Amino acid sequence: MSDHPSLKNSVSLLNGFGKHRAELLNKEFGIESLYDLLFHFPIRYVDKSRFYSISEIRSDQTFVLVKGVLFDLRTVGEGRTKRLVGELKDATGSLDLVWFKPPQFLLKTLKNGQVYQVFGKASRFGDRYSIAHPEISKLSNPSEVKGLGIEPIYSSTEKLQKAGLSQRIIKEGLRKMVTAVDFGLAENLPQTLIKKLQLPQKTEAIRTVHFPQNLNQVDLALNRFKFEELFFLQLRLLYKKLIGQKKIKGRRFEHVGDLFLTFYKHHLPFELTNAQKRVIKEIRNDLGSGVQMNRLLQGDVGSGKTMVALLSGLIAIGNNSQAAIIAPTEILAQQHYNDLVSLLSSLPVNVALLTGSTSKKDRKVIFEDLLSGELHLIIGTHALIEDNVSFKDLGVAIIDEQHRFGVAQRSKLWKKAKVPPHILVMTATPIPRTLAMSHYGDLDVSLIDELPPGRKPILTQHRTDSARLKVFQFMKSEIAKGRQIYIVYPLIQESETLDYKDLMDGYESIQREFPLPQYQISIVHGGMNSDAKAFEMRRFEKGETQIMVATTVIEVGVNVPNASVMVIESAERFGLSQLHQLRGRVGRGAEKSYCILMSGSKISEDARTRLEAMVSTQNGFELSEIDLQLRGPGDLMGTQQSGTLQLKVSDIVKDSEILYRAREAAEWILARDPELTLAEHQGIRTTLNRLLKGNLLWSYIS
Ligand code: ADP
Ligand code: MG
Repeated sequence: MSDHPSLKNSVSLLNGFGKHRAELLNKEFGIESLYDLLFHFPIRYVDKSRFYSISEIRSDQTFVLVKGVLFDLRTVGEGRTKRLVGELKDATGSLDLVWFKPPQFLLKTLKNGQVYQVFGKASRFGDRYSIAHPEISKLSNPSEVKGLGIEPIYSSTEKLQKAGLSQRIIKEGLRKMVTAVDFGLAENLPQTLIKKLQLPQKTEAIRTVHFPQNLNQVDLALNRFKFEELFFLQLRLLYKKLIGQKKIKGRRFEHVGDLFLTFYKHHLPFELTNAQKRVIKEIRNDLGSGVQMNRLLQGDVGSGKTMVALLSGLIAIGNNSQAAIIAPTEILAQQHYNDLVSLLSSLPVNVALLTGSTSKKDRKVIFEDLLSGELHLIIGTHALIEDNVSFKDLGVAIIDEQHRFGVAQRSKLWKKAKVPPHILVMTATPIPRTLAMSHYGDLDVSLIDELPPGRKPILTQHRTDSARLKVFQFMKSEIAKGRQIYIVYPLIQESETLDYKDLMDGYESIQREFPLPQYQISIVHGGMNSDAKAFEMRRFEKGETQIMVATTVIEVGVNVPNASVMVIESAERFGLSQLHQLRGRVGRGAEKSYCILMSGSKISEDARTRLEAMVSTQNGFELSEIDLQLRGPGDLMGTQQSGTLQLKVSDIVKDSEILYRAREAAEWILARDPELTLAEHQGIRTTLNRLLKGNLLWSYIS
């Protein structure tokens, strides 16, 4: 059932590879064993499957294989412009051949009147085709053919070429291996699945990838490997989830508890949306099930995830357990703390805030109270997961804005209790379906697909600098109506000083345009200390200032319902989800709101796509899909997590259809055989074990 052990042998066993070349191959491409070489797939294919007659060549810039007699061969030009030219003639016509700086051996061996096979890219000049630097080989008679077929091209490096490890040697090595009837590669997909999905067998697919008959076949073979890769990704995630559900006990909160009920009946500041109610029910079921919850909560900006977090926490606290909410930034943690303290003011819940700037003295008290159980709800930043933080009984951990939080960090949290805490992960903005499936495929997913009532759509417009005066006019008319305005400047680490200058220049021009005493302006940026920041924010929140000039520190955590205009400066420099987050700061009150994206007139194609997307939709799910197309999955998830998706042949964006099929297949297999004990599933089991590297505990952690 497993691959033949000989596949583990070094490639140096193959003819032409030798020790030095083998070492180089390992250095350059990580290819050590014969097995590795089998999976060194061509980067592209050259189609030499048929001869063209010269009159058949139609389109410019296509690769063609032709055969004919060489004539009129001559060198023209001198020195650096010296080139070798000639013509190739067949029964239907002729074309030009040209070599710039022709190599000696060509000058010596090419002869007029000889029959040659020629391959290259045909370009049209006037009414004639010409091939520059063609591959050319002499034929001993007109009916001979050489190397007809699809030619794989393998990636190589300068070092490999210098060491003489040519395409030819690689191909020969592979040919030796794969022409054997059985070269020992085990099929690791069950035959039932292969039949059901009409996939090629693994051995056959490897043969096709390296020595295809035609290009369609290549696609089928590559798709099989893409499927296989995505199938095992999904299987691993689903298997993990299944094991988690079976083996990992979670504390059972049998009743929601009086605390939850009291809050729900008497202290809810608003009626929950149906989506919020549904999600809370899902969470409530998890918490009562006796199995550890691992749930991802997705919802757009402003969909009301915080209330869901609080209610989940209250269930734990009402059951004499504790709850923690972890936020990615100090500002957001502070904001959550303020909100929750006021919501809980008349209830017997002890709440504390722990961040990097909590004083040593306060810290000590917090640590003690967490350990004694005196403290029920702790809100904080990463400081919360540090080793010195211990709980009496942590029942629920809620991680807000998950994308900034790594798997390893989640696992630390996990170890903070004897029975692992229930975990609720909340995203800042929606994640595209394919990404959610591949990054969080082991989590259950809850969706808030509805915004609280009364939200008015935000009118979004893109304006260039030339429209600035009009924008100022508009801002004045909004302020005259009693509204407030944000103006946001980018702050990107690499050019912090430059950004700071932009911000200050902008601030000055705003001050000139909106003079005292008629207008009051707040300013907040990363260089200020937290007291000064808090002071300025409070002035804006209280309505003492009409304009808030800020860098992205306000991205999360500011809630001023009276603010109706969001002006984003140099909007082309912001990412899509950041723009969406920023826009979410307005449209929270009863007034019609506006988002104005300012940019120069010359912006990149990608930036234009982003701004157009912002103008055309307010749906975070749609925007996240566009973002994924633009940036690719690694970038979208942040460097911390991109390592979790080390896909070699597949791409979850381009191969999303295959991903969905792989997910379905993995579900289908596990539904029939959750322990993977059936004989036909031993291939899967072996591969899965290898992927989990025997480290089952790590795989439990989510
Ligand atoms: P997010 O999902 O972005 O974290 P928040 O939880 O911050 O959203 O909620 C955004 C705003 O909407 C807050 O001011 C919150 O009080 C309010 N809100 C949440 N749920 C409701 C609701 N059901 N009805 C009215 N307002 C709500
Ligand atoms: Mg939030």
